[in-house]
Formats: sequence, C-alpha cells, structure tokens
Amino acid sequence: MDFIADLHTHTLVSNHAYNTVTEMVTQAKKLGLYAMAVTDHGVAMPDAPHLWYFYNIHSLPDIVDGVWLLKGTEANVMDVDGTLDFSDDLLKRFDLDWIIVSIHSDTLAPKLDFDSATKLWLNVAENPYVDMIGHSESRFHEYDYDAVTKVFAQNNKVVEMNGNSANCRPGNEDNMRRLALACKKNGTKIAVNSDAHSIYSLADVDTVTPMLKEIKFPRELIVNATKENLIAELKLHGKKIAAKMEEQL
Ligand SMILES: [Zn+2]
Ligand SMILES: [Zn+2]
Repeated sequence: MDFIADLHTHTLVSNHAYNTVTEMVTQAKKLGLYAMAVTDHGVAMPDAPHLWYFYNIHSLPDIVDGVWLLKGTEANVMDVDGTLDFSDDLLKRFDLDWIIVSIHSDTLAPKLDFDSATKLWLNVAENPYVDMIGHSESRFHEYDYDAVTKVFAQNNKVVEMNGNSANCRPGNEDNMRRLALACKKNGTKIAVNSDAHSIYSLADVDTVTPMLKEIKFPRELIVNATKENLIAELKLHGKKIAAKMEEQL
C-alpha cells in the first residue's frame, strides 16, 4: 500500500516535536512524497505555537524542492458542542490548506460517554472549516462510528487512520478497525498519516496498513493514495492550492 502524501505532521514549533519544517520537507522529498501537510497544534495545547505563526504561515512556499507543502493545523475540540480552539473568523483569515480536528486530553475531558462523544463529532461535522478528523478511535471517547461516519461522508470530512496511534494510544486497534469498516460501509473517505513528530517517523504508517489490507479498504476512498485523489479532495474542500497542483500535474 503506497501513499503519496502525509497529511499530519508536526515541527518544532510544537515543542514536543523535534525538526524544522525544512528538515521535514527534505525528508519528505527523500521518501518520494508528492505532498506533506504541516499541521502544528492549535493554540489550546500547552506547547502550541503562538497565533502569529498561523497568521504568517503563507510566507512559506507552496512547493519546496518538488514537494507540495500544505499549510495546516491540528485544532483541538474544546467541548461537546464541538467548539474549536480557533474561531471561525480566525480559520477564515488563516485560509489553511488542511485543518485537522482532534481530541487531546489536555484540552477536553479525558473520558466521554458514548452519547456525548457521538454528539461532539456530529457537531464538529457541521463546521465548514474542518477537513479531517484526527485519531478519533480512542476507547475513552468512543462514538457511534456508523451514524457519525455517514454524516462525515455527507459533509466531506475525512477520517484519519493514524500511524502513531498504536504507539501513543495503545489498545485501540480494534476500535480503529471498526471505524475503518464503518467508513468503508458508508463511503467515508480516509487519510492514512504518520502524525510524525520528527523526520524519523515521517510517512510511517506501518501499524495501520495491514488492517486496511485485511478489510480490503478501497483505494478510491483513501485521499492520500494518489495525486488525483488528493487534488480532488482539496478541490472539494474549496482549497485554492488544488488548482495550482492540478496545473502542474
Ligand atoms: Zn493529535
Ligand atoms: Zn498530531
């Protein structure tokens, strides 16, 4: 199983990551990636970058040494209403190429009941700025995979299969499999990402691919399986960079 992009990575502006954006893109080039999204943490995380980082992010080039550099963030869900740590106004202003929304226990209750977690994701699904749902398979925030992935599909929210989950959220492998099966059943698109915090784990999704192979997850539903899939998905999300990528295909 090959992937042409990593849509979830961190750099040392999140202080628990260890490489610069230049080092990460250089590694992406070495690995033969077509695109990489730099998605540092939203401001509610204790070691997130300052807001100015996001105001200025478009000063980075769109393409570095042949690798498309998507500018993004991994925003935090703050409550069951699906409130994020960036207002709609800010997200509009930042005009990011890839907005992930994740639950982190630093910014939300470490455990939610099934109904609350389901409500949370249904609310997030209504946010037009959200592109992808990050590592949502934790048993501590288990939700109705079938009902919610249907709404994710309707609202063009991509569900992430996170290569780092097995390391930092162990014990959720069965949930991830059930989530992937719900996506397959409901035609919900997924992205398979490393969530790398250094060059050494960029594009490493080895903990996820055997499961996707086993359940025969269709490649047309994987947004980072091909360049065409990725461009089509960015277009669907109204991203300006999609036209530039298409032009240079
Ligand atoms: Zn995360
Ligand atoms: Zn992350």
